[in-house]
Amino acid sequence: MKPTDIAAAAGLRTPIRHQLFIDGRFVDAESGETLATLNPHDNAPIVDVALAGKADVDKAVAAAKRAFPKWSRMAAADRGRILLKLADLIEANGEELARLESLDTGHPIRDSHRLDVPRTAACFRYFGGMADKFQGETIPVEEGFLNYTLREPVGIVGQIVPWNFPLMFTSWKMAPALAAGNCIVMKPAEITPLSSLRIAELMAEAGLPPGVVNMLPGLGSVAGQYIAEHPEIAKIAFTGSTATGRRIVQASAGNLKKVQLELGGKGPNIVFEDANLQAAVNGSAWAIFHNQGQACIAGSRLMLHEKIADAFLEQFIPLAKSIRLGNPLDENTEMGPLTSAQHRERVLSYVEVAQGEGGELLAGGKSPGGDLAKGCYVESTVMRAKSYKDRVAQEDVFGPFVTVLTFKTDEETMQIANGTDYGLGSGLWTNNLQRAHKVARDLHAGMVWINKRVNPGSPFGGVGQSGYGREMGFDAMREYTQVKSVWVNVDAQIPPHFAR
Ligand code: NAD
Repeated sequence: MKPTDIAAAAGLRTPIRHQLFIDGRFVDAESGETLATLNPHDNAPIVDVALAGKADVDKAVAAAKRAFPKWSRMAAADRGRILLKLADLIEANGEELARLESLDTGHPIRDSHRLDVPRTAACFRYFGGMADKFQGETIPVEEGFLNYTLREPVGIVGQIVPWNFPLMFTSWKMAPALAAGNCIVMKPAEITPLSSLRIAELMAEAGLPPGVVNMLPGLGSVAGQYIAEHPEIAKIAFTGSTATGRRIVQASAGNLKKVQLELGGKGPNIVFEDANLQAAVNGSAWAIFHNQGQACIAGSRLMLHEKIADAFLEQFIPLAKSIRLGNPLDENTEMGPLTSAQHRERVLSYVEVAQGEGGELLAGGKSPGGDLAKGCYVESTVMRAKSYKDRVAQEDVFGPFVTVLTFKTDEETMQIANGTDYGLGSGLWTNNLQRAHKVARDLHAGMVWINKRVNPGSPFGGVGQSGYGREMGFDAMREYTQVKSVWVNVDAQIPPHFAR
C-alpha cells in the first residue's frame, strides 16, 4: 500500500510527515537516506522517513543558534502563550494524533486517545503556565549589597527520546526546555518518529519561531551519538536504556554537557497481606501490562506477601490471560503488539532465561498465532522466579512479562525490593499507613506509589542505574536553567584591600 492509502486506512486525513524538521521547514536528509517505519501490527512499511546524519545535526544546531537570542529574551509569558496554544492544537487534533501514535508504536488506540494525547497536552499546558512563574531569588547578604539570582536557559539542548511513549516523551522533554527559553535539537527513536514530526508541525502552527525546535529522526549510533558529542550543544536529556545512557555520558564529556538521564527500571510492586486485594490485582495488571509493559516505571517485579500470594494469583492469572490482544487501531484492543520484531524476540528470550533458572511459567510466554502471527505480539506473561537474584528478577525485560516473588518478613521485603541496581518507580499496596510511609522512606527509588500516578507537577526520575535528573514540575525547570548570581554594591564601603 502507498503511504497515502495506509494513512487513509488508519483514519488519518492529515498527510504523514516523513522529512526532517529544520529551521521551521520539512527537508530531506543531506545524504538522501531514509528508513522505513513499520506498523508493528503486521510489520508492513508505513512510510520511508528521512534519516539525519551529522550534516543535518550541524544544520539544526546552526538554526537553533540563530533562533536562541530572540527566543531566550522573549517575554516568558509570550513563550508560555505559544505552549498553551500548542496544547489546544494537540487536543483539537487529538483523534488523529492518537491514531498516528497507535499506527507507529502499537499502543492500543483506547490508551493513545484516553492517556497519551491528554497527557501530552497537559504537559505543554502545565509548562506554558509555568514559563512566567519560574523566577530567581534575592539573597539576604551583608548590608550595603544586593545579591539576586537569574534563572537563565542553558542554550541549545539535545533531546533523545525512545520508542515506547514517543508522543508523551516529546512533551516531557520539550515543554520545560522551551518554557525556560532553550532551543532544541531533538532525535526521536528511528522506529517511531511519526508523532514527533506531527508535533513539530503543530508547533509551527502554534507560532513557534523557526529554529527553536528541530526534529531529526535518525539512527542512535549516528545522529544520536553526534548530538551527544556536539560541542555547541550545552545539555543533553535522554530517555532509554542504561547502556546507551552510559555511552551518552562518555560522548558528552568533550564539552562537559549538563546531562539528564531517565533510564530503565525493574520496579518492585509490593502487595502486603493487608492490601485491598481486588484493587491490588487490577492495579498490578495495569502496572505491568499497560503499553505491553514497555514502560520504564512498569511494576515488573510483583512481590507478594506469602499469606496472600495464592489468593492474589488466583485472580491475577485469569485476568492476565483474559487481556485482549489485537490490532491497536481496534477500540476493543487492550494490549497491542510490541513496538518492533527485534524487541519481541528480546522479550521472548527471557522465557528461556527464566526457565533455565528454575522459573515457573504461570501464563503466556509466547506469541499468539492466527491473525496476529505477522505482528510483534507477545501474550501477557507471568513467571514465578526462584530467587530475586535471578536474571529474570534483575534485568529490565521491558515487555508484558511480570516476575513473581514472595516475601515473609519486613526485612525480606526491603532486601528484595532494593535488591537490584535500578531505582526508578516502586509501588506498594497496603492499608497500613505507618507501614506505607516506612516502606516509602526505605525504598531505593526516585518515585514511590502507594496504592498509585503521574502528573506534570510531580518530579519524575530515578536513582542508581535508573539515571539522574528529574523531569516534570519545578525540578524540570531547574534542569533546563542555570543560575547566575548578580552582586550589586548599593552603598557599602569596601575595605581597600590593596591600599597603598
Ligand atoms: P536505546 O537506549 O538504545 O534507544 C533509545 C534512544 O536512544 C533511541 O532514540 C535511539 O536511537 C537512541 N540511541 C541509541 N544509541 C545511541 C547513542 N549511541 N547515542 C545517542 N543516542 C542513541 O534503547 P533500545 O535499544 O531501543 O531498547 C533497549 C532497552 O532499553 C529496552 O529493552 C529497555 O530496557 C530500555 N528502554 C528504556 C526506556 C525508558 O523509558 N527508560 C525506553 C526505551 C528503552
